[in-house]
Amino acid sequence: MTDDELRRAVERELDRYAGWSRWLVHVRDGEAVLCDDLDDPVEQHMATIIAASVPGVRHVDTHHRARCPHHSPPTAA
Ligand SMILES: [Zn+2]
Repeated sequence: MTDDELRRAVERELDRYAGWSRWLVHVRDGEAVLCDDLDDPVEQHMATIIAASVPGVRHVDTHHRARCPHHSPPTAA
């Protein structure tokens, strides 16, 4: 499974759980990063469990979108 396929699979599971496209998903080398604008620790915990249950996902991190490293300027990476 490619990272892009993995990203779509995780997004589909999270959309089904949340009922809308709440989470933005980034995947690199099987490591998923989830970010949203709400920063709710309970929801982040649930989303982490759901994302980690997708076969192929090796690791899950959550970020508030404003602090998501994948949304930082390229120089910050
Ligand atoms: Zn992000």
